Amino acid sequence: MEGCLACDLVTGRVELPGGQILATEHWIVEHTIGPLSLGTLIVKPKRHVVHFWELDEPEATEIGPLLRRVSAILADLAQPEQVYVALWSHAGGVPVHIHFVVQPVTRTLMDSIGDYGPHLQVALFDAGVTPPRDEIERFAERARTAFGA
Ligand SMILES: [Zn+2]
Repeated sequence: MEGCLACDLVTGRVELPGGQILATEHWIVEHTIGPLSLGTLIVKPKRHVVHFWELDEPEATEIGPLLRRVSAILADLAQPEQVYVALWSHAGGVPVHIHFVVQPVTRTLMDSIGDYGPHLQVALFDAGVTPPRDEIERFAERARTAFGA
């Protein structure tokens, strides 16, 4: 859907630093373009879906194993204390194209923010700092290799 950021990143109407990391039958994995920490990946349906309950059976069947796989790869690449898996998709209080935020959280990151959990994500959004493009590109390449993509 044109004008939807998630869709526009897929079609190339909006540039995606690091490029697509993985495309499965129904889902796409990419590095976030938002002000979250390096290595935070987005997992979103190829189809423009704005409510989780609107996923069809094949999409729903694929997402559990895929989120586990993405989390495992981030655990391997980033050696985090935890990998957060969150889905808000409520931009400005309006439902948008659903996208899981899969974020590796290291002790170093927690110490630099001074918090964890939802507060860590809020603090990162408040700070508004996007990781450097070259670091995103390097991480995306490592992730593609890890996925065998
Ligand atoms: Zn969309």
